[in-house]
Amino acid sequence: MRITKKVFTDLALFMIGFGLIIGVIFPFFVMAAGVTKADIFTPFFIISCILAGIFVGAINIIFAKIIVGKRLRLLADRMEYIKVKLSQGLSSSELEGCEDNFIITVDSEDVIGDSAKAFNDLVHTLSNSMRNEKAITKFNEMLSSQLEIKQLAQKALVQINDFMDAEAGAILYKQGGELLVAASMNIKTPESLITNDAVWTAIKLKSKQKSSLTNEIKVETLLIDFFPIETIVEPLLYKNLPIGVLIISSAKKFKDENTYAFKMFLRGLALSFRNAITYEQLQKLAANDPLTSLYNRRFGRVRLTEEFSRAVRNNLPLGIIMFDIDHFKSVNDTYGHTVGDRALVNISKISRMAIREGDFLIRFGGEEFLVILPGASKEDTQFVAERLRHMVEDSSIKHRNQQIKTTISAGYSSYPENDTIDGNTLVVNADKALYIAKESGRNKVVCFSD
Ligand code: GH3
Ligand code: MG
Ligand code: MG
Repeated sequence: MRITKKVFTDLALFMIGFGLIIGVIFPFFVMAAGVTKADIFTPFFIISCILAGIFVGAINIIFAKIIVGKRLRLLADRMEYIKVKLSQGLSSSELEGCEDNFIITVDSEDVIGDSAKAFNDLVHTLSNSMRNEKAITKFNEMLSSQLEIKQLAQKALVQINDFMDAEAGAILYKQGGELLVAASMNIKTPESLITNDAVWTAIKLKSKQKSSLTNEIKVETLLIDFFPIETIVEPLLYKNLPIGVLIISSAKKFKDENTYAFKMFLRGLALSFRNAITYEQLQKLAANDPLTSLYNRRFGRVRLTEEFSRAVRNNLPLGIIMFDIDHFKSVNDTYGHTVGDRALVNISKISRMAIREGDFLIRFGGEEFLVILPGASKEDTQFVAERLRHMVEDSSIKHRNQQIKTTISAGYSSYPENDTIDGNTLVVNADKALYIAKESGRNKVVCFSD
């Protein structure tokens, strides 16, 4: 029922019109009440009634404007304000921090109050959705800047925990049928998760498991240790295959409004995780020699440069051993290449045993090896080289009831001796010493000296 294009004008017309009608029929009511016609039907009384009716109608519309119009104006102004801000690129932090500036006080239990409440809910949803978008963008930026499994997992966990308001969490990943901990936060014994039923159920069923870990995860914070109220175990799926698990725990219930962003995090994380696993496998392939599984020459060169810089920086010694199998050609010639290969693998294994963790064993050429010994002095290097030579000398491989024995010759050099300026000089010097070891009878260890 509309007359003009303005609701309040329509309302005014109806109210004043109604007032006018009341003013016209009021004298008849008065007459019914017993007042004489002569007193009622005077121009003064009739005009007064009509004016009173119009006046009441006009006053009504003023009240309606003040009471209802003011609230509708506020609603319209707030909407307009948000629209302008959005078109100017309102950020989620602007909205989040100032959500109160946009909120309308709900002071009536009617349709006006409902509109204000709906508007407030809308602002909250908008703020939440902008917060989600910001978090997802930040998360994706982080994912695309990380390639190493552990770093990626650690950073992802920090961001997810932060967003979900979780106190603790872990990311596990599958490698060769096994589960490994990629990252954990505030969990006392993250390794215990590897054998946890809920974790394996999530992997097996490829679905989220809730709360089942509540009594098993103990959260360790700075001040107190506690058992969480809610724990989510989510499988990380890549092409519908589980490649890992994300676990988050909190002392309070997780908010439903974060579900969408959480799903986005999981999707992005699974994809990046898969890339990181592939990257690690490629790195391994690129860095290792397929026959002996030792590091290859390319990796050795890079490692040596880095270890040399580290030694200089930290003022620590660095030892290098080059060794070569003696008369290896005759092993091949006598027993064939396959036996030669086995001898090479055997020497690789023995050499691995002769060095410490943190040392690097590199297949530098066909039957030539390089050992990098970070922190080893000249004496340490000589000791390792001799131990290596002895261990090879004492070993053998079996071929058709025959024990095949080989020996090695080794040359070594070390930093900071001989004014060494880079890693390559160390290798050249060790090679010169190796040459002397060969020349002077083989099965020997020789130190480089200028
Ligand atoms: P020496 O070092 O004591 O002077 O004598 P050598 O006979 O070991 O010396 P040389 O460097 O001339 O020979 C190296 C041999 O190693 C030649 C090559 O056939 C063999 N060789 C290199 N790589 C491999 C490999 O991957 N498998 C096998 N079976 N043999 C290899
Ligand atoms: Mg050789
Ligand atoms: Mg040789």
